[in-house]
Amino acid sequence: MPQQFLLLPAFNGQYEQIQDHCPRKPCQQSAGGAEGCCVQNGTTAPASQYDGINLMNGGGESQMAGVPKVVIIGAGFGGLQCAKKLENKPVEVTLLDRNNYHLFTPLLYQVASSLLNPSDIAQPVRSILRGHRNLVFRQAEVTGVDFDAKRVLTHDAGDFAYDYLVIAAGSTTNFFGVAAAEQRSEGLKDLSEALGLRNHTLHCLEEAAATGSMEEARPWLTFVVVGGGPTGVEYSGALSELIHGVLPREYPELSASDVRVVLVEGLDRLLPVFPEDLGEEAQRALEARGVEVMTGLRVTDASEETVTLSNGDVISARTLVWAAGVKPAELAAALDVERSRNGRIEVDDALRVKGHTDVYAIGDVASFIQDGKQVPMLSAPAMQGGRQAADNILRTIAGERLKRFKYHDKGSMATVGKGAAVAQVGRFHFHGYIGWLMWLGVHIYYLIGFRNRLVVLSGWAWNYVRSDRPVRIIAKAK
Ligand SMILES: Cc1cc2nc3c(=O)[nH]c(=O)nc-3n(C[C@H](O)[C@H](O)[C@H](O)COP(=O)(O)OP(=O)(O)OC[C@H]3O[C@@H](n4cnc5c(N)ncnc54)[C@H](O)[C@@H]3O)c2cc1C
Repeated sequence: MPQQFLLLPAFNGQYEQIQDHCPRKPCQQSAGGAEGCCVQNGTTAPASQYDGINLMNGGGESQMAGVPKVVIIGAGFGGLQCAKKLENKPVEVTLLDRNNYHLFTPLLYQVASSLLNPSDIAQPVRSILRGHRNLVFRQAEVTGVDFDAKRVLTHDAGDFAYDYLVIAAGSTTNFFGVAAAEQRSEGLKDLSEALGLRNHTLHCLEEAAATGSMEEARPWLTFVVVGGGPTGVEYSGALSELIHGVLPREYPELSASDVRVVLVEGLDRLLPVFPEDLGEEAQRALEARGVEVMTGLRVTDASEETVTLSNGDVISARTLVWAAGVKPAELAAALDVERSRNGRIEVDDALRVKGHTDVYAIGDVASFIQDGKQVPMLSAPAMQGGRQAADNILRTIAGERLKRFKYHDKGSMATVGKGAAVAQVGRFHFHGYIGWLMWLGVHIYYLIGFRNRLVVLSGWAWNYVRSDRPVRIIAKAK
């Protein structure tokens, strides 16, 4: 599935009713008779009852006897919204993630292109959950789920018992079977990949500066980016800005005109999920920044020093950045559940995993069908799905009918560089400066944490005024 960017819209939670999802015993008539309701098996209790209780006891066992346990796998966009919706509710929530932070992926490319620091776009999960006593976080790599025993299995933190499980494990890079690319390319999917890409790019500039001839320097100065979706477009625009802003000032040995940034897209145009005029606009803006756009071509092979295209051309390049697509997280394949053709976990109208009434799947990992199509792998459906799953869990506990999930698409946007972005909101299309200002506003709004907003805004202001990308330390972890 190709990667797309959409607006990250606030969603006010107006859902349609689902006809009959009473999860346990059959419905009794409610007092008002307006809405059917299901009798539960008595685990519900008022929120105040749980205040101040020490929730966890070592390896994942709870001290809150009788309280429904909700385990959420993944503290990404979907998992976090789900947890937040359950705060101060009569449930005990354990949020699991292999990382101890929540990552704001839409700005990841700005870490890779030396504009922002990792901590500007990532927030420790514990700081997000601070003060919510029915929510706990455990850093753990989930390896599987024992659905019969209702336990989540982890590699490093024991098992976690659940009454309700939410799978929100996201997605991973899809190399579409190009094995050489998998081994040799730089990725842009998580923080460690973004840092690796930043180090690699800066290292290439140093290597090029140290060579004695242009012929030797050329492969170090050629950057091939694969994928004309938003990630590829945004990264190649930012890389071009990095090169043209920094090289003339700090690398007297090199000339910015010797650098090639090549963006390769398999389809015949950029941003295929956007309207055609916006794809063309993005291409124009990239080309104006010196990016070579090649459409209708695929990368078929790669070595340390070359990239081979589907038309047989071989580009001499030390850098191959893979931004071509995503597939569901590996965990999906490890579970005994029904999956769609592209590997996403199949869910019903209420977001429950087919065949498992107490297990929900949301976001990139889930295959939810709306209007005959899979809902896209984007942060907005993940966040909306997270809130809906939480709501349906609370409804189940309260003995109420579940509600059908409905994804509300508020639009799409992608930036090409300073002062240039494309945006689609309903039937309105924006580009250039206006699109860019919209892009800035939406991303600052959705970034978590006041400090991060402040730091990112000042980073953008610095870049705007100075055309500088200041985070150019080649820092390697031991
Ligand atoms: C570079 C980039 C830019 C993007 N830009 C945009 C954008 O501008 N707009 C937009 O709408 N979307 C964007 N997306 C897509 C968006 O990030 C995803 O659609 C969204 O994150 C999906 O949310 P999620 O909750 O399903 O998964 P995620 O947010 O990916 O969260 C999944 C979490 O699960 C954890 N996890 C996974 N497997 C395990 C395991 N086995 N054990 C423990 N933890 C695990 C991960 O560490 C992660 O924290 C972008 C994606 C990328 C990579």
